[in-house]
Amino acid sequence: MATLELRNVNKSYGSGLADTLKHIDIAIDSGEFLILVGPSGCGKSTLMNCIAGLEGISGGAILVDGADISGMSPKDRDIAMVFQSYALYPTMTVRDNIAFGLKMRKLAPAAIDEEVARVAKLLQIEHLLSRKPGQLSGGQQQRVAMGRALARRPKIYLFDEPLSNLDAKLRVEMRTEIKLMHQRLKTTTVYVTHDQIEAMTLGDKVAVMKDGVIQQFGTPREIYNDPANLFVASFIGSPPMNFIPLRLQRRDGQLFALLDSGQARCELPLGAMEVGFENREVILGIRPEQIQMAVAGASGPSSIRAEVEVIEPTGPDTLVFVSLNQTKVCCRLAPDDAPRVGQTLELQFDPSKVLLFDAQSGERLLPGKPQTAEQASKVAQFKGR
Ligand code: ADP
Ligand code: MG
Repeated sequence: MATLELRNVNKSYGSGLADTLKHIDIAIDSGEFLILVGPSGCGKSTLMNCIAGLEGISGGAILVDGADISGMSPKDRDIAMVFQSYALYPTMTVRDNIAFGLKMRKLAPAAIDEEVARVAKLLQIEHLLSRKPGQLSGGQQQRVAMGRALARRPKIYLFDEPLSNLDAKLRVEMRTEIKLMHQRLKTTTVYVTHDQIEAMTLGDKVAVMKDGVIQQFGTPREIYNDPANLFVASFIGSPPMNFIPLRLQRRDGQLFALLDSGQARCELPLGAMEVGFENREVILGIRPEQIQMAVAGASGPSSIRAEVEVIEPTGPDTLVFVSLNQTKVCCRLAPDDAPRVGQTLELQFDPSKVLLFDAQSGERLLPGKPQTAEQASKVAQFKGR
């Protein structure tokens, strides 16, 4: 077990090329599970390769238990990585694939046998030990790749999209197994994914990345409830947050957003006026589960009548689509509350749940700033650059 700190890490693949990683600042505690999430090409694998030592960094430092390891060769770092491609040795049996790293470390044969047996039991692949990778399904190969990393009992595990080649059902099963395994072993882990559900379910901490820059670093809850900008808000959540472009208005020093469903209008109160907010073009963000159906006839300043255009039952809840300001807006309702297409609903917005983002920069305007000190400092650092 070990702490991991990335301090102002930069990476360029060559002079003349744009930096692939820009000022990465993240620290996790011993035993924590960090999720690194972001779209394809944003630099996730590059960062993992830098931590493992397969790529050098161009600036900053990588610290394990407070000691700078950035100059160390990969084999001295005591970090094990599971690759997206599995990278198993095709001519070796499963047993030899798992034992390979232990042989390289010159463990005694009896100790190697014992470790292979332990890992095989943990991953339930004891019956596969004599097979070659070509005789295994994708899910089984994935377990062997994990087994090879687990056999080493390193200080830190790195997983680079380990589940992305599996079918949806197996992915969900393996996700739960990885979580169970981490609860048992409590080894510090960095896990890369582009899947926001994996990000939310697996991580103690989540770092959301775009174009080589960490957009936000916090707990899954903070990332979901308190996104620092439009990118984070749009990337995390399924169905995604609703975004309604509009221009802010004011009356008597109070700020409001004018919503228009075609049938009705509503002046959604947003609190006291802040300097420079009047007439500002913003994106109003609200999650589908935060729009409620109001009691019939209970129209008020935060409710609006709208006609149901499309209904999508998902089983546990029903997604209901209406148009506000000519934008499709999704509301997540209990199946028992589900209306019919063409029916008029009274929708209730909780103004305290509404987020506002600047339409140009995507920066969050309201409410204030992300709430935790850690997040606030990250945002401050990010903006200072
Ligand atoms: P991700 O894993 O998030 O999909 P990568 O880290 O693989 O992203 O890639 C990030 C960026 O760095 C991409 O633009 C990619 O083309 C570039 N890149 C990755 N590896 C190399 C390399 N060896 N040489 C030059 N550019 C690279
Ligand atoms: Mg990658």
